[in-house]
Amino acid sequence: MTTMLEIEKIATSYGSSQVLFGVDLHVRQGEVATLLGRNGAGKTTTLRSILGLAPAHGGKISFMGKRIEHMSTDKIARMGIAIVPEGRQIFPNLSVRENLVAFAANRNLSKTPWMLADIYQLFPRLAERADNMGNQLSGGEQQMLAIGRALMTNPHLLILDEATEGLSPLIREEIWTCLKKLRAQGQTILVIDKYVEKLIPLADHHSIIERGKLVWHGDSDRLSQSADIWQKYVGV
Ligand code: ATP
Repeated sequence: MTTMLEIEKIATSYGSSQVLFGVDLHVRQGEVATLLGRNGAGKTTTLRSILGLAPAHGGKISFMGKRIEHMSTDKIARMGIAIVPEGRQIFPNLSVRENLVAFAANRNLSKTPWMLADIYQLFPRLAERADNMGNQLSGGEQQMLAIGRALMTNPHLLILDEATEGLSPLIREEIWTCLKKLRAQGQTILVIDKYVEKLIPLADHHSIIERGKLVWHGDSDRLSQSADIWQKYVGV
């Protein structure tokens, strides 16, 4: 498997306050990888560095074989990284259909790009809500829409930032099931989260950060046998 995203020892600061002190992360083509860590560990900052929103001042970030740590955010997005952001950020005054269509692009040059009908098949609830405005949706529906919208860009890499935060257990399950389906279709996914137990069966590879540093990485088998590790670094 080729490496799609490779982060090596990035250092990132907000003004004079350094937050990342050497984060490493590898996401290989076709795998589901996770970035785990407690609140404040530096997960969102790592994501912001990948996107060029909080550029790293040390280390390297490569995507699809190209160095991106000094690229602009829009250029990085156009290379095929799509984010499902924490808090979802869908357009409240566009309908579900308009929210989806507004993002349509074929960034990975797929021969079978995502179409509206495919998104509605993945999330039948969005089909029922096609004409509803973004602000009329429940939290779970907004999250499905945010995922659908990201898929409509046909990304090489889909990144979910705390995708199930604040959702009911039932909706959370629905989101994890959707990720399983996407994985089966070969979509490369990076999940940033705290729900280790849910992610062990779903993901291939895990990286744990603590205070802005990588403290552990390994596959699901190793992580499932290392309850002490995840209780130490991710336990809530
Ligand atoms: P959470 O799950 O709470 O979002 P996280 O692992 O994503 O946690 P970050 O949001 O990356 O963590 O925050 C890492 C550290 O950087 C924290 O100590 C936080 O207070 C600090 N930080 C985050 N954003 C800023 C900012 N804009 N300016 C200064 N410090 C910040």
